[in-house]
Amino acid sequence: MSSNQPYSFFQSVEKSFDKAAKYTNWDLGILEQIKACNSVYQMRFPVKLDNGEIEVIEAYRVQHSQHKSPCKGGIRFSDEVNQDEVMALASLMTYKCAIVNVPFGGGKGGIKINPRKYSVYELEKITRRYTAELVKKNFIGPGIDVPAPDYGTGPREMAWIVDTYASLKPGEIDAAGCVTGKPITQGGVRGRTEATGLGVFFGIREVCNMPDVMQKLGLTIGIADKTVIVQGLGNVGYHSAKFFRESGAKIIALAEYEGAIFNADGLNEDEVFQHRKATGSILNFPGATNLAKNTDALELACDILIPAALENVINGENAPRVKAKIIGEAANGPCTPEADEIFTQNGILCVPDMYLNAGGVTVSYFEWLKNLSHVRYGRMEKRFTENLNTKILGQIEELSGKRVSDENREFIMHGPEEQDLVHSGLEETMISATREIMDIWNSNPEIPDMRTAAYVSAINKVATSYLELGIFP
Ligand code: NAD
Repeated sequence: MSSNQPYSFFQSVEKSFDKAAKYTNWDLGILEQIKACNSVYQMRFPVKLDNGEIEVIEAYRVQHSQHKSPCKGGIRFSDEVNQDEVMALASLMTYKCAIVNVPFGGGKGGIKINPRKYSVYELEKITRRYTAELVKKNFIGPGIDVPAPDYGTGPREMAWIVDTYASLKPGEIDAAGCVTGKPITQGGVRGRTEATGLGVFFGIREVCNMPDVMQKLGLTIGIADKTVIVQGLGNVGYHSAKFFRESGAKIIALAEYEGAIFNADGLNEDEVFQHRKATGSILNFPGATNLAKNTDALELACDILIPAALENVINGENAPRVKAKIIGEAANGPCTPEADEIFTQNGILCVPDMYLNAGGVTVSYFEWLKNLSHVRYGRMEKRFTENLNTKILGQIEELSGKRVSDENREFIMHGPEEQDLVHSGLEETMISATREIMDIWNSNPEIPDMRTAAYVSAINKVATSYLELGIFP
């Protein structure tokens, strides 16, 4: 708990939960069970560093809820890791999975290290030892608890985890499903890299396709010609900007930590990315105006603002100056509770992080399913679909005496690849989750914002699941 924060991270998650629970009719006991972290494993283990010294490493794995199995959540390597943070993040995973109908309980792991201070060999030893500790206590496995990447970890660490797990569990046929976010060669799935940005796009597009919501905001229906501002040109920001631009929206400003740029005619995120790579900065991009401060981009008039960098960037101080109509929380926690209240007063729609950035965990679910089925998506049906569509198209052309354009021909005949199916599964997931949350919000005018409605959606699903399991006879 930091000195100027009245609540720890975990307590603030509990507060958001309590705020939403008021709009449900569940018994107090069920709500208490949902909130609680079921299992907290705190561990210490030694690792021999390259210089021969031995260091004791502090690490955690928290399983917040087993209302669905396995538990799911990333592993974070950071100096800041502590038990409260891991517990908070694990509980958020329970709610996030429930909202997007991914049938997992929430989990999270953390190792209290700054990965930049260690050699690759040391990081490998730490990751493998952490995995072995999880195996010893039955805290990892395709049916138990399935980690994924988070801050400071990526496909490399996930490959070490699956290799360690598989060697400690010889013959376990589903071993590849013990972790997600793996390299494609090690059982990963195509479409993971862009998943979060694409999920952000699908979620906001669905909101923009809701006539009543758009009417309230004074916007036209659809994404085309919407003005969009993105903060952060990393994985999530870059891909969000790309999908918005490709659908006809105009990216009028981009912000990075060194500054922000504006062009009313629209920016191409990839050209800006290449410019940044070449010059070390997004500033002075040809045709664009430099803004005085990078945070100025958050306060420009636009239809959609996508904070995709850090937490707490829109707060009680700057929220009154935000002129966007819709805020899409691509980052985790970019808007504070004070900002939420100001948005409600000012009629700004904030689409909450807890579901909007769930593309990563959704595609992790698809990776886990792929691992359990031992077959690449599309392998069984791609050829069949292509042959079938070719036949149908041939018949249509023959009977009508007309030829379909080359562009349409390619689209119709194309059989689904793994990436096509992953994108389509993600699209379905984000559309359904958006509609479910909006239905809850519409059903009770007392619910103040979409974030609270999302929590209500999560609480209802987890509570139903507990009751159906017969835990509360
Ligand atoms: P990233 O490190 O790839 O990108 C973050 C970008 O933000 C970087 O380019 C960085 O330079 C920029 N940035 C840093 N400070 C800034 C500032 N003050 N102003 C403007 N830009 C700034 O990280 P990411 O994976 O894109 O994640 C971004 C956010 O999305 C994080 O909050 C993360 O927790 C969240 N998120 C990511 C995923 C995922 O799949 N990657 C999933 C869910 C949530």
